[in-house]
Amino acid sequence: MSTSTISTHDTKLDLFADIKTTNHEQIVFCNDKASGLKAIIAIHNTVLGPGLGGTRMWNYASEADALNDVLRLSRGMTYKAAISGLNLGGAKAVIIGDANTDKSEALMRKFGRFIENLNGKYITAEDVGTTTKDMEYVNMETDSVVGLPESMGGGGDPSPVTAYGVYMGMKASAKRAFGSDSLSGKKISIQGIGKVGMHLVELVHKEGAEIFVSDINTASLNHAVSTYNAKVVVGNEIYGLGVDIFAPCALGAILNTENINALNCSIIAGAANNQLADENEHGDMIKDKGLLYAPDFLINAGGLINVYSEHIGYNRENAMRDTEKIFDTTMNIFGLAEQQDIHTQKAATVLAQKRIDDILSVQSTY
Ligand code: NAD
Repeated sequence: MSTSTISTHDTKLDLFADIKTTNHEQIVFCNDKASGLKAIIAIHNTVLGPGLGGTRMWNYASEADALNDVLRLSRGMTYKAAISGLNLGGAKAVIIGDANTDKSEALMRKFGRFIENLNGKYITAEDVGTTTKDMEYVNMETDSVVGLPESMGGGGDPSPVTAYGVYMGMKASAKRAFGSDSLSGKKISIQGIGKVGMHLVELVHKEGAEIFVSDINTASLNHAVSTYNAKVVVGNEIYGLGVDIFAPCALGAILNTENINALNCSIIAGAANNQLADENEHGDMIKDKGLLYAPDFLINAGGLINVYSEHIGYNRENAMRDTEKIFDTTMNIFGLAEQQDIHTQKAATVLAQKRIDDILSVQSTY
């Protein structure tokens, strides 16, 4: 899902030419001098429903970087919602600033007002640099917000649901690669045992997998060793480790040429967003190496499914049941990829786009 680079320093700004390529519907620039709010809301596609995507607060090096990020992320949300069968479109917002020093109640509430003005076309949630507390402030000005605490009728932390979806994607991959979805006795390495990774460790431990973990947080490593009998792997050694399944659950863009060359596994199935450094080049490279890659935006959609459930009336059981369907969708994607001789990420994107096109045609008559 590459997007072209936009420079706000050019004397001639080709913004419309660029969003014609990415096909964004609407981009909203939000400015408020009093609170210091500088935000961009990008609504990529609302064929399937209102655009849902979190708000990222980040100290971007330039406004062009912020714009590129929000365009790229919002487009990703369109495909994540579409492949998951949700009646949601794709959108995302970024607030330009330091989340530790520039955030205030006034800034978040003003941002909520801008969202309210979109009349439900954009629904926000927390993301990097924003918290549940921030969403409570946003919620004071608009109902178009999810990811609220359970005490406010929300779904709480989506990470366990995300982990469950990754687990489903992993089991589907095992079925495809080894003929059985059982993870018992399988060697599984997990890079990053944070909110999602640690839940994943728990799930695969229950099934009797042999677990290897890497993280930069010693307390998390100690917990995984003492509670789940995991073995610790240091730094980049995780890429060359001989395992059945490698689960990237920390950083994006780690599936680059060097790391893919090093990989010594059969399956890649993890939670991290945008794992492929270059979607097509590295998608093909993984395919050519004979590894099975479970598309990240498909198998990490449990969190989105959870907040969607919040949007339609929260029910954890329904969210888990819908997340379980990731198993079947992953199997379908593997079938489509083989049939069309394309890499699995491409197959997932093709299927997501097909759903959008099909529903667009349904809506063509009254
Ligand atoms: P998190 O911040 O709780 O966990 C990330 C973990 O990775 C931390 O423990 C961190 O110490 C570790 N880490 C950082 N750098 C590392 C490195 N170089 N090597 C090994 N470990 C490293 O985040 P999370 O919520 O668990 O999300 C993990 C990934 O999954 C992210 O890419 C996120 O975008 C994606 N994701 C999360 C959700 C969700 O529901 N939380 C949903 C979809 C996608």
